[in-house]
Order: sequence, then structure tokens, then C-alpha cells
Amino acid sequence: MSHLFYLSTAKRPVLDRAEGIYMWDRDGRRFIDGSSGAMVSNIGHSNPAVLAAMRAQMEKSTFGYRLHFETEPGEALAAKVAALCPAGLDKVFFVSGGSEAVESAMKLARQYAVVRGQASRWKVISRFPSYHGSTLGALSVTGYDPLTDPFKPMMVAMPKIPAPRAYLDGLDMDDPATGAHYAAMLEAQILAEGPETVLAFIHEPVGGASTGALVPPVGYMQAVREICDKYGVLLIHDEVMSGGGRVGTFLGGDLWGVVPDIVAISKGFGAGYVPLGAMVAPSWMVDAVQAAGGFLHGHTYAGNPLACAAGLAVLEEIGRCDLMGNAARVGAVLKARLKALMQRYGFIGDVRGEGLLLAFELVADRETMAPLPAAMKAFDTLVELAYAEQLIIYARRTRGGYAGDHFLVCPPMITTEAQVDEIMEKLTR
Ligand code: PMP
Repeated sequence: MSHLFYLSTAKRPVLDRAEGIYMWDRDGRRFIDGSSGAMVSNIGHSNPAVLAAMRAQMEKSTFGYRLHFETEPGEALAAKVAALCPAGLDKVFFVSGGSEAVESAMKLARQYAVVRGQASRWKVISRFPSYHGSTLGALSVTGYDPLTDPFKPMMVAMPKIPAPRAYLDGLDMDDPATGAHYAAMLEAQILAEGPETVLAFIHEPVGGASTGALVPPVGYMQAVREICDKYGVLLIHDEVMSGGGRVGTFLGGDLWGVVPDIVAISKGFGAGYVPLGAMVAPSWMVDAVQAAGGFLHGHTYAGNPLACAAGLAVLEEIGRCDLMGNAARVGAVLKARLKALMQRYGFIGDVRGEGLLLAFELVADRETMAPLPAAMKAFDTLVELAYAEQLIIYARRTRGGYAGDHFLVCPPMITTEAQVDEIMEKLTR
């Protein structure tokens, strides 16, 4: 009997070792990590420079409580993150994961509103579908029935607007009217709630698990920024999955030149080497909160020197090997190959994404975009078939499919074109 317990009851191989984009199980079978875990292992496994940086830091110190010590890796990593973020986002608050980063963003926004005399603002509007984390605050802005239904009525409930899924609504992604149409839903929601009660809007620039690499229509990102400004609503970008370089730029928002008020990052930041995340905010907000007594929030392991040393080495590797450039180039090749597959099979309804954050959607019929009938058990068939091919892909159910309507294909940013061939051969079979 195993003493481990997880959400999934599916039997999985026992991991032995991993290197680059490959992972071996205890029986010596080699898998391709076609989703970088959950879009985490961005620079591949067992990177020698990261392991060396971790070993060197371990010889010096592994933990110093953040209220007792500053650390050199922490200082260096914060400076590096601030340099990679758009101008103005210059204060870095470390955490150990994505949910913690989102919680921190929501709580900083709230505390900022309180210190500037706007305590009536507490609602955080988000989108449906969406995924922002599993802790209560992050779950309250998550729009994903399988994970929220068991907890309803939500202990904290927040308003939702539809995500801009133009591909399902039969709207043209490249028509500015489409972006304006979805952004108008945010404005309507703010007005319905009463702007004086709305604290923030949170969304993912490029969608992740819940929407399958959803790319917003033309004009949407800018319009959302303008609406937030108009009503004094803070804009939070959840870049836990889209941040870190996978989309070809450090942040997804950079693709549109849109700067949020607060950004949450994690996943590819620690890149599978350490649990690491961060909330990045502007000085004007952080200083106001600090002046009023400090940010009343924090997590024990946050910013420990080992995590920071690893995170710094990850970012240095991304720069040294131009992995963002590689993600953009190889991502374009992989996306074109997925689109070619879509031409061959009517049950692939859409291929979307940016860089190496890519997904395809299975439908009953591409003409109508009707969802997969639940009975099709697409998850079982496709993910299990991929396992049999020793390829790992990431599936999520958001429509009719038994457990998988869209499938993320997001190999590490080090993936070569030859490895794209390897992935596509298995996927096509
Ligand atoms: N936000 C987004 C966009 C995510 O994809 C995730 C994880 N899938 C989270 C938040 C939560 O991150 P974690 O699981 O590290 O708490």
C-alpha cells in the first residue's frame, strides 16, 4: 500500500532520473517531458549550471529567515527580476509557489486600498474559465467548476466575467471589435458591482491550464488596462504560467506592451529546481504600504537563499543560451506542425498559444465547435496513448470532454527542432 495521496488516482510511472527534455522511470523507460511537468521545467532537467549554483549555495547556507537576514542571492535575484520586468515594476516579494504569489498580489492590493482610504474596495474580478491557485483566496478568483464546485458556497466568492474565447464564440481574433466586445464585459461588471467596491481585476495574459494557451484578441489587453485605469481598479497579471520566458518574452504582458499594477510569477521561475515564486509591484504602491506599518503578509520559506540562488542561475541560463529566443523560434515551428495536424483531423478544433505555451483543442466537430461528448473520455484515450508513446502532455477539461478538451504541448525552452520532430511523430501516431 502506498501512503502517498494525490488528487489523481491514475497509476503513474515511478520517476527515476531526468535530463534535458527527457525523464526516465524506474524501469528504464524514457519519456519526453512534453509539458515541462505543469509548464514548470522551463530550462529542462538537471541543468549543470543550476545544479552547480545550488551546490555552492548549499555549502554556505540553505535557510535564513527573511525577517532575520537579508541574503546575497535574494538581493541579486530581486535586482535581476526587476531588470527583466517592465519599468516601474521594481519591488520583488518572494514566495514559494503560484498560489502564494496570487494571494500576495490580492493582499497587497487590498492593503494598498485600505492605506489610501478606499477600504470599500475589496472585490477582485476574474474570468471564467481561469485558474489562479488552490488556496482559498486564489481559489475564490478561480473559474474552474471541477475545482470549485466541491467547496461551494465559496468561503470567499468573487465575481467572474467570460474569458475572451473568440474561437468558441465564432468571432474574429484579429478584429478590434472582438477585443472591445470582451473588454466591455469587464466594464459592465465593474459598473454592476459598483466601482467603489472593486479592488482589482486579475487575468492571465496568455492563458494556461484552464483555457489551454488562450491568446486574447487584438486590442483586448490594452482595453482592459484602460478600463482599470478609468475606474481606479488595480490590474493584476497572473503570469505564474505565462511568465518566465516561455512565450518568447519574460512576461506574457510584454507581447502587448501592457504593464499591470502587480504581477505574479512562479513555475518556470524556479523551473522545477526549487519551489519559488514572486509578486512584483511598483515602488509607489509598496512604499505607501510600508509607510503605513508594512505589508502584513508572508510565508516562512519565502526567499530562502537556496531557492534564490537556483532562481538566479535559471534566469542566467535563460539569458546565456537565449532561451526566450529559442522558445519563440521553436515554438513557431511546433505551432505550425500542430496546425498541419489540425488540417488533417476534423476533431482538432483549434491550435493556439505563443512561444512554447501551446495547446490544441479537441471537438466533436470543427465546423460547429461542438464540445466532445463526455462519454468520449478523451483524456483517458489521448493522454494514456501518449503515455504509451512515452510522451507526456497536459490535459484539462473545460467543456464537454470527460477530462480533456484541450491539451497543452509545452516542452522545455531548450527544445530543438529535431526534438519537435520526435514529439510530433509520437503525437501524430
Ligand atoms: N496561477 C496560474 C496561472 C497557474 O497556472 C497556477 C498553477 N497551475 C497557479 C496560479 C498556482 O500555482 P501553484 O500550484 O504553484 O500554487
